[in-house]
Amino acid sequence: MGKNIAILLMVLFSSCKGNSQKTETKKEETFEITKSDAEWKSTLTELEYYVLRKAGTERAFTSDLLTNKEAGTYVCAACGTPLFKSEHKYKSGTGWPSFYQEIEGNVAFDVDYNIGYARTEEHCATCGGHLGHVFDDGPEPTGKRHCINGVALNFIPNVENQ
Ligand code: FE
Repeated sequence: MGKNIAILLMVLFSSCKGNSQKTETKKEETFEITKSDAEWKSTLTELEYYVLRKAGTERAFTSDLLTNKEAGTYVCAACGTPLFKSEHKYKSGTGWPSFYQEIEGNVAFDVDYNIGYARTEEHCATCGGHLGHVFDDGPEPTGKRHCINGVALNFIPNVENQ
């Protein structure tokens, strides 16, 4: 009897967890920069809010940063944390800015089931803003494809190029 209840609780718990990850960025983690939903809404554009705070996806081939080849750093559009470097950016052909490597420690990872199967979600480690997903079909040396919403990033050119 006790065992059955334990199994039932496990099932309930895991299904709740799955649901909570469907629509929003992960809530269990605590982030250095934490704002209320209303505060994020007032500081982000509508599309930034949809992607960063609601784990939405921008339409493919719509980001200005997609074809950007300048040397510099891609920072979180919500909090300014450096997330990706231009030297790790490559043309994936997917329609979203793609990198084979993140700035280690500044990006955190999670799993979502938004489209029915497990995908590795990635978000800003400082504010929790959703960035995109990581796949294993990227180029060497990492073999990773960080498929990132351009609207979640701001580009800061290197000083020597300005
Ligand atoms: Fe951030």
